[in-house]
Amino acid sequence: MNALTSAPVNSLWQATTAFPDGFPVFEGDSEGKATADVVIIGGGFTGLSAAHHLASAGMQPILLEANPIGWGGSGRNGGVVTAKYRMSFPEMTKAFDLDTAKRMHQLAHAAVDKVEEMVNAYQISDAKFQRSGNLKCAHNAHSLQHAIEEAEWIKRELKDDTLNILSREQVAEETGTESFVGGILGLNVGTVHPLNYVRGLAQGINDRFGQVVHQCSPVASIQYENEGVRVTTASGASVLAKQIILATNAYSDLFPSTEYIRKRTIPFRSSMIATEVLNDELQARLLSNERSYVETRRMMRWFRKAEGRFMFGGRGAFGKEDSQAAFDGLYKAMTEIFPALEGIKVDYQWSGHVAMTLDALPHVGRLDERTCVAAGFNGAGVAQSTLLGSLAGQFALGETPNVALLDAQRFKAVPFYAFREIGIRTVAGWYQFLDAIGR
Ligand SMILES: Cc1cc2nc3c(=O)[nH]c(=O)nc-3n(C[C@H](O)[C@H](O)[C@H](O)COP(=O)(O)OP(=O)(O)OC[C@H]3O[C@@H](n4cnc5c(N)ncnc54)[C@H](O)[C@@H]3O)c2cc1C
Repeated sequence: MNALTSAPVNSLWQATTAFPDGFPVFEGDSEGKATADVVIIGGGFTGLSAAHHLASAGMQPILLEANPIGWGGSGRNGGVVTAKYRMSFPEMTKAFDLDTAKRMHQLAHAAVDKVEEMVNAYQISDAKFQRSGNLKCAHNAHSLQHAIEEAEWIKRELKDDTLNILSREQVAEETGTESFVGGILGLNVGTVHPLNYVRGLAQGINDRFGQVVHQCSPVASIQYENEGVRVTTASGASVLAKQIILATNAYSDLFPSTEYIRKRTIPFRSSMIATEVLNDELQARLLSNERSYVETRRMMRWFRKAEGRFMFGGRGAFGKEDSQAAFDGLYKAMTEIFPALEGIKVDYQWSGHVAMTLDALPHVGRLDERTCVAAGFNGAGVAQSTLLGSLAGQFALGETPNVALLDAQRFKAVPFYAFREIGIRTVAGWYQFLDAIGR
């Protein structure tokens, strides 16, 4: 690995990936005369989806990723492919109007379809994409009532027939625990092996279009010149592009070159644990329909099975480093909800940053005649980043797709950025308090 890149992630995905991380490093040409139509900065789902879109349209993109492909959120997430935003559709309608909520709902579902389209386009069977559904599990009667009202509103106003209300008994049967009072099953949600998905995309793009995707090639500087944008890596290789796409999401603080996104996002740590392989009895009893599952608490915790193991995720430690206490907290929460897992060993634990935005929505669009952006996925970006990467590609091609509230004009800078850490702690503490008192 290049000395400039960061440590690998000790995840379940890393241990079970079907793809070696053998992608080329960008070296430019010996005279510094390399050119590209579009240079894409960041090689997660967003950047790769943009690269696919542009290369398929006959353009010459070059993608530069600072680390091995899949090092960012795209290779270390929970693999839940969901059609939702943190802002609810009724909230959107109240704050804007019904037509806006309808378009946002279309975009959310299009995002899940986009993942399936990409998996099929490159035949990434190791991505294990399945539309298995997601069950939102209510932790108390108040939350269940709220979730039911929201689901009924979506069914009625947005004509969404993919949502089903499940009783306490049905949720107990599905999950293998009595911890929930009911839930909402969303059928248009899937799961993937995220590292196989992101590396499968990178491999497929390079196989089909030549050496587009480069890893361990961090962009250290971006200079706007008369003829175009000069993008230079930390090792001094440079390329002159007609346009660039910024696609670094929660990892925009690695280099000052991506400060546009850094100033508009708040990184929030999300952590996960994966147990040892479950025995046959637990396999059959817990999460028997192999869906993804999420709690209704504000400090959202979620779970699923993958590779024969039980995975449990939620908020991680504050600050720059992981803490064992945060992982122990996840284990405690997991065994409180699923007493049958008491004593089971954890084989993998890891974390990563998600990028929160001021309006809780991701954004995509054109910033100026040479720059496009897609970022701010608020922890729900597997499907959204795949879609918004492709929309960023459309913007770079000069198109103006209707992205409703996702418009980059709404991507606002975080005020008092230096104090964001205090803000995160205050909000998290308040949410924990509300969860604890059952509101
Ligand atoms: C622990 C965890 C669990 C999650 N679970 C889920 C889930 O289950 N479902 C869901 O929908 N979402 C989930 N997410 C969120 C999801 O992973 C992200 O929203 C998504 O992967 C964002 O993709 P991206 O391509 O925009 O960013 P990333 O995949 O993070 O890619 C950005 C890349 O930019 C690179 N980079 C940064 N600076 C530079 C530079 N100067 N030059 C070149 N490259 C640079 C970084 O190395 C990084 O690889 C989770 C996230 C985490 C951390």
